[in-house]
Amino acid sequence: LFVTFEGGEGAGKSSILKEISQELRDDGYPVLETREPGGIDIAEKIRDVILNPSHTSMDARTEALLYAAARRQHLVEKVIPALEEGKIVLCDRFLDSSLVYQGYARGLGIDAVHRINEFAIEDFMPELTLLFDITPEEGLMRIAANKEREQNRLDLEKVDFHEKVHEAYQKLAVDFPDRIKVINASQSFQEVKTDAIQVLRKYLPS
Ligand code: C5P
Repeated sequence: LFVTFEGGEGAGKSSILKEISQELRDDGYPVLETREPGGIDIAEKIRDVILNPSHTSMDARTEALLYAAARRQHLVEKVIPALEEGKIVLCDRFLDSSLVYQGYARGLGIDAVHRINEFAIEDFMPELTLLFDITPEEGLMRIAANKEREQNRLDLEKVDFHEKVHEAYQKLAVDFPDRIKVINASQSFQEVKTDAIQVLRKYLPS
């Protein structure tokens, strides 16, 4: 079972992923926790190139291609082998992040970004995507409570960028309702976790 976790800043998806992973392990399921961009040496190196704040001259298409390259390597080297071993793979971000961030928010076009990603992932898609939905205002406020993350990221991307991210995620959820399940991430951490695990459990092998 391949499950991806998506959402904008401050939605809490990464913390929830860790908690869910632990809960599934406690129940005896074999779980692989991973993230994009990264998860393996080659892809983590690509991540460092993309997210390096000194790389201010990076062209938007270059960035999109690097994400797709990292995604490809991560998929063939880590995700697919784990799925073949029967593991539940919980992946922090996947294709939808590229469609939303590079395709829509950075303006490359969702179709164009989809095309390069089709080359990268072929037909491989998650069975379930949990979309942690929070308004940009609320999400950014949560991050502002954490000074370090605020300095790293908040300055780089303005609120209207996050509005676009939010809008694009909502559009994807409407377009792919069978795969993408929306979790209300403005609730308390416990409530968000409970909702997410409830949805996920429906997909677990019994
Ligand atoms: O998942 P995480 O919040 O750590 O991702 C770090 C940042 O990388 C995101 O906030 C986003 O700005 C950026 N990103 C992106 N395009 C992707 C994946 C991540 O712009 N495909």
